[in-house]
Amino acid sequence: MSQQLGGQQIIILRQGTTRNRGQDAQNSNIAAAKAVANAVRSTLGPKGMDKMLIDGMGDITITNDGATILQQMDIEHAAAKMMVEIAKTQDKEVGDGTTSAVVIAGELLKNAEHLLDQRIHPTVIAEGYQQAATKSLEILSGIAVTVKPGDNAMLKNIAETAISGKGAEAYKDLLCDIVVRAVTRVADPDGTVDISHVNVQKKVGGAIEDTSLVEGMILDKERAHPGMPKEVKNAKILLLNAAIEYKKTEVSAKINITRPDQVQAFLDEDEQMIHAMADKVIRTGATVVFCQKGIDDVAQSYLAKAGILAARRLKKSDMDNLARATGATIANSLDAITPADLGFAGLVEEKKLSGQEMISVSKCKNPKAVSLIIRGASEHVIEELERAIHDALMVVSVVVKDKKIVAGGGAPEIELSLQLHRYAATVGGRIQIAIEAFAKSLEVIPRSLAENAGLDPIDMIVAIRAAHESGKKTFGLDVFEGKPVDMLKAGVIEPLRVKTQALSSATEAAVMILRIDDVIASAHASAPRGGMPPGMG
Ligand code: ADP
Ligand code: MG
Repeated sequence: MSQQLGGQQIIILRQGTTRNRGQDAQNSNIAAAKAVANAVRSTLGPKGMDKMLIDGMGDITITNDGATILQQMDIEHAAAKMMVEIAKTQDKEVGDGTTSAVVIAGELLKNAEHLLDQRIHPTVIAEGYQQAATKSLEILSGIAVTVKPGDNAMLKNIAETAISGKGAEAYKDLLCDIVVRAVTRVADPDGTVDISHVNVQKKVGGAIEDTSLVEGMILDKERAHPGMPKEVKNAKILLLNAAIEYKKTEVSAKINITRPDQVQAFLDEDEQMIHAMADKVIRTGATVVFCQKGIDDVAQSYLAKAGILAARRLKKSDMDNLARATGATIANSLDAITPADLGFAGLVEEKKLSGQEMISVSKCKNPKAVSLIIRGASEHVIEELERAIHDALMVVSVVVKDKKIVAGGGAPEIELSLQLHRYAATVGGRIQIAIEAFAKSLEVIPRSLAENAGLDPIDMIVAIRAAHESGKKTFGLDVFEGKPVDMLKAGVIEPLRVKTQALSSATEAAVMILRIDDVIASAHASAPRGGMPPGMG
């Protein structure tokens, strides 16, 4: 690129750099973002379709999950990548609403394009969109419903809505029940939930119906020694973050041995040290030992003789969850262990699961960590199941924490649209037009729900809008009957935070893309050259 200065050309960018500016840059970015939104729109809602994705290695993923689809698509265009980011953020923050967020962002940009054509400046559109988003959050908290503590039926509905339309839906009763039990179990008293305390294990084999919740931990481990008991009832559990090993050679680097009996003495001393360590373990009164480090062979048989079940080299995360499940405190040395450090489980046993030995720690008293074992006939089934369970765990956690929900099925989007139109009128000027475009964009949700269910989108939107105008704020689209119904009564509900997060990040992405009027790509960048990513359009 170059500039003319008094007839002389000044080159400021390296050769090969491409530059795309003004309306051109905007058009290209908007087209790419819309293409991404279109790619996932057909999966929205309980009647949405699945996508089959095949990666470079030929591995197949079949999914209905927006974030997963976008992650697996090989997207190159820079603006399109920003759309993928929305899905990722949404997935990380709330676990659900990924498709909605991307679809809304796409629609915001599509409607912005019309405004750009009418020569409304991008900054005006951006400002209007931001005002509308702020107002939307206010309106949403106004129509949100508070969940009463202990209302597990409501939590179950939240989980069911999150997995509707996914492959797992046929088993929603069982799965959502498990999810609600798991989350309420591991929740802290203030409602904070860290779902890493739900230890999810996938085991190919058996049927989906065999998916179950263990009120304790399932460990991918065997006992350290065959002489150890396979089963311990009313187990007193020691969690040890120290090795039961003694390596003299690590302590003193040089040993002088001149007579054969010295070798024996040396070995005897080694063994004695290990016995001493094992004795310390035995004296704690523990009947089960989980060790994060190694356990020496000699110590293993010594512990086995004492009737202790031990396992070694456990993962840090498993140790943490064991502590939460059994009430034990992890000991960092063998010297300062008190009986109060020991945890309890009604039953610890080694058993076979899908042909593999596992240690199950169950019948814990008040476990703050649980294990969820996913079963299914194949990898594909289990993986889609895991994604559905993950979403359900996330949304239930969000509601246990926030205690706020809204109706689903397009109800909040229609209500927002109506209220925003009224609000726009009070604002006036050019910004009003942008707020109205925002309001109209939200209707893409009920419209897509209707389209994906093979219903007439215009008829459906008119009908839901009429319901809302007569004060029925929780009416949304019953995709099975093809008419508006009260979504709260139908149990189609979602966390408030799924909606607020989706709106915020969709607006943010749309505004960011709109504000770009110059795309400068260096020669080696894979950034846009005005075109669309391959396979899209
Ligand atoms: P997302 O990735 O955005 O969560 P989904 O495919 O899960 O996409 O679809 C979510 C949309 O489907 C939400 O608007 C939700 O309210 C709606 N929805 C879910 N279940 C139902 C149902 N049974 N009836 C009508 N709408 C539903
Ligand atoms: Mg969803």
